[in-house]
Amino acid sequence: MLKDKPNHKPKIVIIGAGFAGLRAVKNLARIDAEILLIDRNNYHTFVPLLYQVATAFIPPKTVAYPLHKYLHSAANTRFFQAEVLAIDFERKFVTSDRENIIYDYLVIATGSKTKFLGVDGAPKYTYPLRTFNDAIALRDRILGNLERAVTCTDYEKRQQLLTFIIVGGGATGVELAGALSELIQTSLVDNYPQLDPREVKIILIHSGTRLLADFPERLGDYTGKQLRRRGVKIHFSTRVHSVMPGAIELDDGTIVKTATIIWTAGVEANLPADSENLSTAKSSKELLKNIAPRRDQACVSSTLQLLNYPEVYAVGDVAYVEQDGKPLLGIAPEALQQGTAVAGNLKRQLRGLPPKSFNYFNKGTAAIIARNAGVAYLFGKIPLKGWFAWLLWLGIHLYYLPGLSNRLIVFKSWVRNYFTGKRNLRQIASKSTKIPVNGA
Ligand SMILES: Cc1cc2nc3c(=O)[nH]c(=O)nc-3n(C[C@H](O)[C@H](O)[C@H](O)COP(=O)(O)OP(=O)(O)OC[C@H]3O[C@@H](n4cnc5c(N)ncnc54)[C@H](O)[C@@H]3O)c2cc1C
Repeated sequence: MLKDKPNHKPKIVIIGAGFAGLRAVKNLARIDAEILLIDRNNYHTFVPLLYQVATAFIPPKTVAYPLHKYLHSAANTRFFQAEVLAIDFERKFVTSDRENIIYDYLVIATGSKTKFLGVDGAPKYTYPLRTFNDAIALRDRILGNLERAVTCTDYEKRQQLLTFIIVGGGATGVELAGALSELIQTSLVDNYPQLDPREVKIILIHSGTRLLADFPERLGDYTGKQLRRRGVKIHFSTRVHSVMPGAIELDDGTIVKTATIIWTAGVEANLPADSENLSTAKSSKELLKNIAPRRDQACVSSTLQLLNYPEVYAVGDVAYVEQDGKPLLGIAPEALQQGTAVAGNLKRQLRGLPPKSFNYFNKGTAAIIARNAGVAYLFGKIPLKGWFAWLLWLGIHLYYLPGLSNRLIVFKSWVRNYFTGKRNLRQIASKSTKIPVNGA
């Protein structure tokens, strides 16, 4: 067990240094308690910009902010790098791959993970985009395919290398499709003059009838038009039947040969695998009526506490939280506001006061499509599209990106790319052997 100091202060353990966990740490920095932040990585991943790393837009290091820098001003907080494996709520301890850790209060902020929806071959043969390593692997694959295509004289194999399939028409799928099309239209011409951009196919496969289901219909329609104008082929009402090395099979039996399938279609709560007694939305029939089947989140009360354990909170993507009778979407502002709320409630509990209900203030959602094209839905009421929504998205993400030097680097990359179309990030970091390219 991780030892306590002799004069026992209340010990708050926070699992997850994402948006919710770090916001909680920041708001608890001055209290008289011992805080332990646990994460499997020693950096905070700025998830919304992962797609820009994957498409060689910005340097990888800008989305992985060192936690020790972040914790510099939180004297009451220690960081412990470990993978949490299980939580024993009765005996109040966390089991990790390094040692067991006891707690007085616990905050579970472990986010979400990719869900492959039971599609045969998808976990093995597709590229998800949820972690820093996912983004690097995908970037290496995209660049690696271009390198291989340059010297590939077999027409069919070159076609396979230059066909990119994105599964899922939510914000991540849309952003990737747009960024990939820009990469091809601008940098490919510049860096790979031997390749003809017309040979490259970007195909977006979506099970719904329109893109961006969380936005108003006309913003989804606008997004579809913008992507098509940029050469992205969109298949609506189409499901993936199975995935194999080098090809994808759709539910109508069509087989498309491709060297790269990017999976953005599903997400589920990322709860430590073995957390006994945890009531999840999936196991609660009452909540199941209202919940999208993609999630499997921890059920919490309006105060964000676990139903049977008032000393345990779950926040961010991992928690099932409703606002006005509807589940929250699973976006960063929700996680940030929950991080603030959980810190407030812990302070109240420590003073012997009852925790307060969480209320989400919806400032809105935004998605970027490509240069000069974005969509936003402000305050859940005001739809915006085009150049202003695009600029708004860039401004918001630059503001929230941790670290001044990261902001400067990202800003410089964006400005450079906007005016010159250049992306200079051509280094392939690994051999990208995850998925074999059949035949190519
Ligand atoms: C590709 C993509 C793009 C997105 N773009 C946007 C966007 O533009 N705007 C927006 O608002 N939202 C966006 N989102 C959603 C947003 O990223 C999430 O809502 C947000 O990250 C949730 O924050 P969180 O703190 O709950 O989890 P996270 O930020 O995911 O943090 C979870 C942390 O827990 C750690 N962890 C998990 N399990 C363990 C374990 N067992 N042991 C130890 N550590 C563990 C992880 O390493 C991670 O650091 C996007 C999501 C994705 C996948």
